[in-house]
Amino acid sequence: MNVQDASIYVAGHGGLVGAALVRRLQAGGATRLIVRTRAELDLRRQDQVERFFAAERPDYVFLAAAHVGGIEANRSAPAQFLRDNLQIQTNVIDAAHRNAVRKLLFLGSSCIYPRDAQQPMREEYLLGGALESTNEWYAIAKIAGLKMCQAYRREFGFDAISAMPTNLYGPGDNFSLRTSHVLPALMRKCDEARQARAPAVEVWGSGTPRREFLHVDDLADACLYLMQHYESEQPVNVGWGRDVSIAELARMIAAVVGFRGELRFDPSRPDGTPRKLLDVSRLTTLGWQPRIGLAEGLASTYAWYGQHRDALRT
Ligand code: GDP
Repeated sequence: MNVQDASIYVAGHGGLVGAALVRRLQAGGATRLIVRTRAELDLRRQDQVERFFAAERPDYVFLAAAHVGGIEANRSAPAQFLRDNLQIQTNVIDAAHRNAVRKLLFLGSSCIYPRDAQQPMREEYLLGGALESTNEWYAIAKIAGLKMCQAYRREFGFDAISAMPTNLYGPGDNFSLRTSHVLPALMRKCDEARQARAPAVEVWGSGTPRREFLHVDDLADACLYLMQHYESEQPVNVGWGRDVSIAELARMIAAVVGFRGELRFDPSRPDGTPRKLLDVSRLTTLGWQPRIGLAEGLASTYAWYGQHRDALRT
């Protein structure tokens, strides 16, 4: 793929991942980027998606559009997580194939792996056991998406590949306390507690679950790398390669934010899956490595949050 000349559609450019992809492609000199807002193009609607692809006929597609959210959002909206994601990915993958897209990259998630998978999780562990119940709706949709890429490659020879990112964070993240993931939620809680001189911040669950965090700019770089260097039906994990406990993460965030009060764990809230760490050897063997460490990434994300704090308070 020649970034400068190709027409490239980034589906979901308003989200955390899509916006990072747009930044990365622009930095690479892309001149023919195609994006549409949700108001312009509802990807859940097959007729709209078909019209869009027939008119634009992009060369390459990054499918980063999805209905996403943290543990509480998944619990409270199972139908939307399942339906929206199945509709979006089915419409986009099928229309891309029918309109002669040269290559498509589908973004999955590390939650597709079994809840009790051996750690770190290799791509081969897919469908080897039951899913974590707090996000199985989202996971089932994402599994269907990567299977659709495999099926379209086998039956139609469509060059569709799948990347499975670990937990992501960075500028443009969702900082809503109800629907966000742990990292932005704790950053916001610590920031507000520091400003209000509150004595404590509430951290959901026991603090013992372990999670891996990858800066979204690293993910975008990896996606472009895969688009240019990978062609296979096997999904590729994209992670940092190391994990931290939620308690350690909370301490790191408190330090970055300058919150010196107490971190109070609330065991009445769910822990979710006990550990989520990807085995990234397939990707490193292909020649790609992440660059942004957690401490550095937290600091830059907090700087971004500081500039956008007022607009993000929803
Ligand atoms: P998960 O990775 O799919 O489980 O989703 P989350 O990022 O939402 O949660 C990860 C872990 O962080 C879980 O054990 C949560 O209980 C814990 N956690 C601690 N505090 C918070 C918080 O304020 N918000 C969220 N979303 N999770 C939190």
